[in-house]
Amino acid sequence: MSRVLYTNANLLDGEHAAQSGACVAVQNGRIAAVGASDSVTSGPSDEVIDLQGRTLMPGLVMGHYHAAYRGYGEEGGSQTATGVEQAFLALGNVQTALKCGYTSLISAGTHYNIDVELAEAINTGEVVGPRLVSCSRNYMPAMDAASVMEDEELCMSQGPDGFRKGVLFDLERGVKIIKIFASGGHGAPEGLCMSAEEIQAVVGVAREHGARVRAHVAGKQQILDCVRSGVSIIDHGDETDDECIEAYLEHNVFVLPSAYVLLKAAELGGNMFGFHSDLKDFHNICGLLPKLVDAGVKLVPGDDFGIWQIPHGDYAQELVCYAEHANIAPLELIKWSTLYGGEMTGFSDLGTIAPGKLADLLIVNSDPSTDIGVLAQPENMQAVIKGGELVSGAMPEGLAAASAG
Ligand SMILES: [Zn+2]
Repeated sequence: MSRVLYTNANLLDGEHAAQSGACVAVQNGRIAAVGASDSVTSGPSDEVIDLQGRTLMPGLVMGHYHAAYRGYGEEGGSQTATGVEQAFLALGNVQTALKCGYTSLISAGTHYNIDVELAEAINTGEVVGPRLVSCSRNYMPAMDAASVMEDEELCMSQGPDGFRKGVLFDLERGVKIIKIFASGGHGAPEGLCMSAEEIQAVVGVAREHGARVRAHVAGKQQILDCVRSGVSIIDHGDETDDECIEAYLEHNVFVLPSAYVLLKAAELGGNMFGFHSDLKDFHNICGLLPKLVDAGVKLVPGDDFGIWQIPHGDYAQELVCYAEHANIAPLELIKWSTLYGGEMTGFSDLGTIAPGKLADLLIVNSDPSTDIGVLAQPENMQAVIKGGELVSGAMPEGLAAASAG
């Protein structure tokens, strides 16, 4: 298969500051070489695409994604949809994400095992979509024996054995991540609390099946219980303090603040969840973020898109929010969305532009490392490339003809 050379690129490789005049060679769906435009010599069979200074960057990764949500929480929203309806919503949503430049999604919870089936349909080429790491239905602690229940969206359980049994059901149908609610807060009912023994039971059975566990958790004690029990993804972590930061670093966990929903839920109100109507939680997390960055914690973006206050498609608004309200530099936000996000997928060959990595690439008509808001404007997303193939958008005008020669 012939090589494609993307020349004269403003290269954002996912780790470093922008480098102008770069060239990236792609062959067989992977990055073959990266260098200055004059250092990579083109052969007669190479297709050369002159980017004329446009930005070439890794496909974005969203680390907290709910494919099946649409208008969730408002009248007529997906909470009343059937399983089949939700499956079609999920397909539409992941294709929206792909158009927005998200070539990988890591699920934070689904219904009717939609993630596993959808990932399979994408991987076999039945439908076009991003890479999708599947997640289970939600696991929550039951308040008492009478409220123990399970269906295709939720499993409310009690005791290590109860959780183990529920989780086993999801693992046996191919789920890669188990989602637990270890504590209330950040939109979940106050008072929810899983014991350390219950968390350990979930992690134990997940690991036996090569799966990971992610936890919705806000309370400090439950954060520590999760991290020390082997939960590898901390969703939110509202009450994070120095002790938690130390634990994050020691156990190499990923932390997803998902604070954009706190801002919009407070602004728009009217939710069926437990989000607060004031901005206290939001400002608290924004205050934490620079501290987490300085400490070297691996932060990854992703939020509850699909609940009605934050519709699918607005994904990059979360990044804009952290730039504006927590003063996080654009390049840092790009690192969260590429380097750390890629690592969080569990695949070793995603997230950066380097030889051997999968060629999941974006051609962007402006430089997001100077203004992260560039990613929130659809007209800037010139082309989305997954595994070397164009999956959304088009090669820039005038360049397609040049490359055909
Ligand atoms: Zn969520």
